Amino acid sequence: MPELVRQRLDHNLGRLGLVTLKEQLDSVLDQAQKESWAYSDLLDRLFEEELATRESRRVRNALKLSGFPALRTLDSFDFAFQPSLDKASVAELASLRFLEKKENVLLLGPPGVGKTHLAIALGVKACQCGFSVYFTTLDDLIKNLTAADAAGKLKQKMRTYTHKSALLVVDEVGYLPLSRKEANYLFQLVSARYEKSSLILTSNKSFTEWNEILGDEVIAAAILDRLLHHSHVLSIRGQSYRLRDKLNVALQAPLTAALEGPVIAKGGHS
Ligand code: ADP
Ligand code: MG
Repeated sequence: MPELVRQRLDHNLGRLGLVTLKEQLDSVLDQAQKESWAYSDLLDRLFEEELATRESRRVRNALKLSGFPALRTLDSFDFAFQPSLDKASVAELASLRFLEKKENVLLLGPPGVGKTHLAIALGVKACQCGFSVYFTTLDDLIKNLTAADAAGKLKQKMRTYTHKSALLVVDEVGYLPLSRKEANYLFQLVSARYEKSSLILTSNKSFTEWNEILGDEVIAAAILDRLLHHSHVLSIRGQSYRLRDKLNVALQAPLTAALEGPVIAKGGHS
């Protein structure tokens, strides 16, 4: 290719922001020449590469901004370990139709059954599909709103939770009881998102116990009313995945002990 054309191409591709295309142009042109590609195949390949790189950069950035504490996927979830969980219901959620319909997802169950894992996995899927997602624990959410309130900036902070994401994941509802003022923050948040954008909430408490967490029956009823109106509730009743090795050892111990004598439990970090 004449040097002048090469320079102009580089310049124009740079101005258009087609960074990947610019980087790969020489090697793809080489290959196209060697393999006698049609012009249309050459163009197709160049734009495909550019788009694929942009797409993976977009997903990477979205995942960084979403605040997930770790990356979890549905592929790495062992459904066999949690037979009370209906795989088809999770697959339906993974279709992300609930996001389009502005519905909520509530994941309930004791510690370790995979509530956070599933909430993150659905969030990751939503990120990959181009939805804006934000993850927070209820504790952090309340702390941030309280601090903003003290600084006279509650309205702005509340807006970041109500208007900035198509999906807000609020993890660990119920670990700490809320004061009336804190419960009122949650009410404002749930009301503002009601029928406008989706929430995923995880909780180790059943709905009847929410009165205690929220410290006020009236506010608990008002929150639950809006949360549950258009919602998918998955109650997971099973064993903790964190304790699976220890539970196996504990379950096998009496039998093994009877056959072989004392057993030393293998330690496992969870
Ligand atoms: P919860 O939020 O219900 O307390 P987590 O989702 O934090 O539980 O799960 C605890 C740990 O066990 C995490 O590392 C999670 O990835 C893993 N885990 C839980 N359930 C499963 C499962 N069925 N298959 C694979 N990993 C699981
Ligand atoms: Mg959790």
